[in-house]
Amino acid sequence: MAEFTMELSDEQKEVRDWIHGFAADVMRPAAAEWDEREETPWPVIQEAAKIGLYSLDFYAQQFFDPTGLGIPMAMEELFWGDAGIGLSIVGTGLAAVGVLANGTEEQIGTWIPQMYGDAADVKVAAFCSSEPDAGSDVSAMRTRAVYDEAKDEWVLNGTKTWATNGGIANVHVVVAVVDPDLGPKGHASFIVPPKTPGLSQGQKFKKHGIRASHTAEVVLEDVRIPGHCLLGGKEKLDERLARARERARNPGGERLKNAAMATFEASRPAVGAQAVGIARAAYEVALDYAKDRVQFGRPIIDNQGVAFQLADMRTQIDAARLLVWRASWMATAGKPFTSAEGSMSKLFAGETAKKVTAQAMQILGGNGYTREYPVERMHRDSSIYTIFEGTSEIQRLVIARTVAGVPIR
Ligand SMILES: Cc1cc2nc3c(=O)[nH]c(=O)nc-3n(C[C@H](O)[C@H](O)[C@H](O)COP(=O)(O)OP(=O)(O)OC[C@H]3O[C@@H](n4cnc5c(N)ncnc54)[C@H](O)[C@@H]3O)c2cc1C
Repeated sequence: MAEFTMELSDEQKEVRDWIHGFAADVMRPAAAEWDEREETPWPVIQEAAKIGLYSLDFYAQQFFDPTGLGIPMAMEELFWGDAGIGLSIVGTGLAAVGVLANGTEEQIGTWIPQMYGDAADVKVAAFCSSEPDAGSDVSAMRTRAVYDEAKDEWVLNGTKTWATNGGIANVHVVVAVVDPDLGPKGHASFIVPPKTPGLSQGQKFKKHGIRASHTAEVVLEDVRIPGHCLLGGKEKLDERLARARERARNPGGERLKNAAMATFEASRPAVGAQAVGIARAAYEVALDYAKDRVQFGRPIIDNQGVAFQLADMRTQIDAARLLVWRASWMATAGKPFTSAEGSMSKLFAGETAKKVTAQAMQILGGNGYTREYPVERMHRDSSIYTIFEGTSEIQRLVIARTVAGVPIR
């Protein structure tokens, strides 16, 4: 039996330090500028592509780390560097995972390279699921995909919102309703290839945080895409729909495992790891400041009121990381998430990041409230971690229903 250890291997430490170097030397110095510009930091993404940090290969290598810690480690370091730029670098991965999870080998080989482009001409991709009336409640989705058999084309109509990289992406992955009677089981995912007529960017949002990451509406008006752009293919979709219709007719029958929920449980720790990175960054700034700043003739860290805050911050960050690592290890080891451990990690890490960055601002006093210091940006950035990829309330709902043994929906 393998010996239990929480020590990273030399190889893992090497990768972590390499990412940390990029985060410290390239991302940190650029963070304030791109936050103010509220634009996608293309030059930084290009730098990441040049060294192989912005590529499917890199994420695939981390994904296949047998301990499960490759992805959370990479996420923590990148988001320690800066969350807005970090999301610009990893946002494409959300769309790529959509293709990896549902696409055929041919679709994976065709579309994922076009999502990343190459170092000379970097591209990004977008994953478009949320809609104005369908956020937490995915079953309220209205974007329709209708099959035109004569032309072997799908026709998409609807409005997506909150899409990271929406409208500026080379490739959009769009989730749409193919059978409105089946709720979420009647949804399917489609590739919208580059420059497809009918897809346009709607409003670009001016946000509170992660401002270097582009977030926009995506409008789909009679968007015609070839039949082969349905992820997984028509045959598989028809089989899946037939099974769902059968279950709808026979609700007492055997419940199939909810594959989408299992995927969320496995992907949520990666988002939690991003929040851990932001929290750690703010904590480090606050610790240094508390040691340097003198009031009443002594460093402010000599006051128990400040020191205890730092102790709590550090404890919560470490606890969040441990929950993230546990869930990531479980996903890699194929352990069932019997207590929604993936949701637990995202919930705790997101809430911790928001709390710790607020405490960091308090420890920096007036300076913490200014843009001269990075903690106010980190606090703004952290706030999204209780909202996207499932709000904190939805995580609690999933955990509560899982531990109670009742269906999640
Ligand atoms: C910056 C940013 C980037 C994003 N990127 C993407 C992306 O790339 N692709 C994509 O598809 N989506 C993306 N999203 C969308 C994001 O996932 C949604 O905003 C999120 O799921 C919440 O949906 P909503 O905003 O409609 O809030 P709502 O669902 O309207 O929720 C509003 C409030 O009600 C609460 N609530 C809702 N239902 C319940 C319930 N049953 N019990 C208790 N409380 C409840 C929520 O927790 C929340 O506090 C992004 C969002 C943002 C802000």
